Amino acid sequence: MAENKAEKTSSTRGSTVKLYPLANPKGTYIYCDVCGLPAWMRCKGCKIAAYCNREHQQLDWVGIHRYLCKSLIYLYNPPTRSIRKLQQQALERSIFNTKLDLINMCLLHGHRHLFEGNYKLIIPPALQCLRLYKMLYKAEGVEWLPAYLLLAECLLGLGKTNEAANYLSLINWFETKNKVTGIKCNHMVKRTMAKLSMVRENYLQALDELAEDIYLASEKYGTLDIQTSGGYFNMANVYFFLGREEVTNSLYKKVIDIWCNHLQSLVNQKMKTSTPDIALPIKEEEYEALNEADSAEATMYFESIGGWWESTGEGQSYYSGKLAYCKSMHLFVLSKLREAYASAKKTAMFLKSIPDCEALLVRAEDLVESCEKKVYF
Ligand SMILES: [Zn+2]
Ligand SMILES: [Zn+2]
Repeated sequence: MAENKAEKTSSTRGSTVKLYPLANPKGTYIYCDVCGLPAWMRCKGCKIAAYCNREHQQLDWVGIHRYLCKSLIYLYNPPTRSIRKLQQQALERSIFNTKLDLINMCLLHGHRHLFEGNYKLIIPPALQCLRLYKMLYKAEGVEWLPAYLLLAECLLGLGKTNEAANYLSLINWFETKNKVTGIKCNHMVKRTMAKLSMVRENYLQALDELAEDIYLASEKYGTLDIQTSGGYFNMANVYFFLGREEVTNSLYKKVIDIWCNHLQSLVNQKMKTSTPDIALPIKEEEYEALNEADSAEATMYFESIGGWWESTGEGQSYYSGKLAYCKSMHLFVLSKLREAYASAKKTAMFLKSIPDCEALLVRAEDLVESCEKKVYF
């Protein structure tokens, strides 16, 4: 609760200093980081980000700026005193790595906003990403694709279909021109294209694009990797629109299988950390946790699939039990141990009321026990 409160105040903070465009040297213009219009205020923290109004400052702050305000100071004002060549090289390397880290951070929060359905909040991280690409790579290239893809998703979410289509054709042109294959976002391009086809009610085309998405993701990450789950989820939605509810249902089950598998492996790793009765515990920092975008993705799938199963009378089936177990594991992986404990106990009770859930029940009871140990020892 206290944490929520802190989150809330920090999310609306971010003070500014006034900027007088007319006082700039002739020909020097400063533009808003969000919309590109002349800026009238700067972020007080870094004095780098500039805005045309309070609303854009707030959007940027909540969207991304609060995560990188301090890092920008370092990036734009590296130490200027004269240093030896070796130190100079080390500094350049460190600045380069900071830029890469910030790009990854922008993409992570952009995807988190996407899965949380906050489409407008995607704009700041995507634009910040483009500014960082510009500093790193000079010319536009394939490295820029993830940010353009985010912008296309954002526009689709905001209902600006034609603008999204423009971005997607730009991305396609980039891909064909550079003959890029095997990069992380290849399958994501297909997925975003499928979403556009869905909006345009070209369902059969959407199915083709999603089949390609799943194929490319499986080839790169393996068939059971969470990277493939989005393809199945969207495919389920297309079949729903085509009135094929039984196919929708089986694809949703596939999504839950994939996430159950993934969360179980994270749970197994975490159970080994700092458990008193294990001789050589893995240190907490070696444990590969779920990132914020993955976590938002999981929540989105669990809520929409769970809601659909409730409404179609599947609320008492084996898969509803599996979904409940997934939710408990998700809390455990996020180290929300008290919530995980309550949830796992409830899941175990629920599983007892459903036939054929013995194996799941054993795992849920293990989770209850592990939560107890971590919370009370
Ligand atoms: Zn603006
Ligand atoms: Zn700032």
